[in-house]
Amino acid sequence: MHDVVIIGAGPGGLSAARWCDELGLDTLLLEQADQVGGQLNRVYNPVTNYLGLEAQNGQELLEHFTRNLDETDFDQWMGVRIASIDLRAKRVSLESGEQIQSIAIVIATGVRRRELGIEGEKEFREKGVIESGSKDRDLMAGRDVCIIGGGDAAAENALLLAEVCPTVTLVHRGKTLRARREFREQLHTNHCITVFPESNVTRIIGDDEVQAVEIQRKEGLKPFQLAVRGVLIRIGVEPNTEMFRDQIQLNDLGYAAVNSERETTREFVFAIGDVSNPLAPTINTATGDGATVAKVIAARLNKGKR
Ligand SMILES: Cc1cc2nc3c(=O)[nH]c(=O)nc-3n(C[C@H](O)[C@H](O)[C@H](O)COP(=O)(O)OP(=O)(O)OC[C@H]3O[C@@H](n4cnc5c(N)ncnc54)[C@H](O)[C@@H]3O)c2cc1C
Repeated sequence: MHDVVIIGAGPGGLSAARWCDELGLDTLLLEQADQVGGQLNRVYNPVTNYLGLEAQNGQELLEHFTRNLDETDFDQWMGVRIASIDLRAKRVSLESGEQIQSIAIVIATGVRRRELGIEGEKEFREKGVIESGSKDRDLMAGRDVCIIGGGDAAAENALLLAEVCPTVTLVHRGKTLRARREFREQLHTNHCITVFPESNVTRIIGDDEVQAVEIQRKEGLKPFQLAVRGVLIRIGVEPNTEMFRDQIQLNDLGYAAVNSERETTREFVFAIGDVSNPLAPTINTATGDGATVAKVIAARLNKGKR
């Protein structure tokens, strides 16, 4: 029996674990990946907005976060597969057959990139369908690329790749781009970048690698093929809450609903970081939430309330 089980070892889960440990709570951190860090493992750009620390990328920030981790007492299990979870009973069942019981559960499962679900998307992953403009910039240099999405991430990546690619085609569904004004202005004055609004990429085509995308511009018009050697999909994220559906209240987009103590609609079940915060999905808010839940849980257990 643990005091707290935390699910997810991104910035939120790591912060919660450290704080729970510091407050003397018996804590177990469960992570499905083989390493801690969550989305930080996919941040290839410099992180300049985490107060007091600048890092060249997420990995460098993670090194700061995990420094002295061996001096902490909380248990962490990596590569864990959760089979089911009973939030009422506070019981986590693993695929390995193990059952874990706790007083409090902290959901820190973050978000994942939304997929398009089109032909070629999975088949050409790392064969032209790239992960990130910053990470794959050198690989894409000299190639024509297509970016799918109309938000900040799509626009930022288009500008980055336009520095090394002959052409960048940005395809998005909306009438206007959702990206911030600064990005929109730069996109429209960059002669390498073409923007296709009200359009969808319906297929990624290739042999061993990506050769083209099929684009449907406006309803009723015939789709056409555009020759490209790289495709980047940035159409937003979705919360990892499937496992908790029907046990706690989720909002329309599937994010966990929480109160100011970060408690969900079920007592002693908390949700922190991106999984419960579509408004401010940041490292700052996730780590801050971690401290909040630890304080709340410790205070309640000290009062003997279970
Ligand atoms: C490219 C990029 C750049 C970014 N740049 C910045 C920036 O400059 N500044 C900033 O503040 N933020 C930035 N962010 C956002 C920031 O990384 C996130 O806000 C932060 O990582 C959220 O932390 P989290 O702990 O809530 O979730 P996550 O980091 O998403 O971690 C969730 C963890 O839960 C695990 N998990 C999920 N489901 C399960 C399960 N069933 N069982 C066990 N484990 C599970 C996941 O594997 C993951 O490790 C960036 C994100 C990206 C992708």
